[in-house]
Amino acid sequence: MLKARKVGVQLGGVQILQSVDFAVNEGELIGVLGPSGSGKSTLLLALSGFRPANEGTVTFDGKNLYESFDEVKAQIGFVPQDDIVPSALTVERVLGYAAELRLRDVDVEERGRRVDRTIAKLGLGERRTVRVSKLSGGQRKRVNVGVELLNDPRILFADEPTSGLDPALERSLTETFRKMADGGSSVVVTTHIMTSLELYDRLAVIVKGRLAYFGPPDGAKPYFDVDDFTKIYARLDSHPAVDWHNRFQKSEHARHVR
Ligand code: ADP
Ligand code: MG
Repeated sequence: MLKARKVGVQLGGVQILQSVDFAVNEGELIGVLGPSGSGKSTLLLALSGFRPANEGTVTFDGKNLYESFDEVKAQIGFVPQDDIVPSALTVERVLGYAAELRLRDVDVEERGRRVDRTIAKLGLGERRTVRVSKLSGGQRKRVNVGVELLNDPRILFADEPTSGLDPALERSLTETFRKMADGGSSVVVTTHIMTSLELYDRLAVIVKGRLAYFGPPDGAKPYFDVDDFTKIYARLDSHPAVDWHNRFQKSEHARHVR
């Protein structure tokens, strides 16, 4: 569905991403991992079309994403790292207003149904009349995700949605993304937390703007020669980023992005 080839991004004269390949199929949950500052947010913006790359190509259903962005953007959801919903409003009002703004062509009853469905999908039923400011971090993140789900995007990007959540909330939000993917939407999530990784179909590991790995979670440990996901970052430091890039390109896992 979405394919990126040799994506490069320069910002302020600095090369932030270089020659990154990526692929997302229908119904896949993909995790983008990497140390802080490695380029995860930059990659998400480039893949979603919200801030186009300077180099390489991104295609969506075979068409150039950046050229056809106006046509396809309704099918793409993007949840930024920082929460943007107004916290003084209740859950149902936030989603109701968002539905009014985003679903202008949809009649009032159908908008209401979409809000109800989104609230149910995110397990916020008991919190619908509570102000966003009174919610837990995990619930607040769910509301931010919900705004992007109102128009049933085919692909949802979320930047560090589980950052700052305790382990139980992190797990439960990742399980929600897993269910969304099982329901047919594709979900691409950045994270620097090395837990719940077995819930993902594929992991991408970014180091200093380079793709060090893209493939199944159970392939990552042997690939990096570690017995525990948490040791991957230390391994990344043991070689220059370009070496990881070259190693990946030669590995059997490279077929996952071709
Ligand atoms: P991550 O999300 O993995 O923490 P980012 O994509 O935010 O990484 O940033 C990658 C690198 O690009 C960092 O070194 C950051 O300082 C730099 N960077 C991010 N945004 C800009 C910008 N607008 N101008 C210049 N450098 C930037
Ligand atoms: Mg980031």
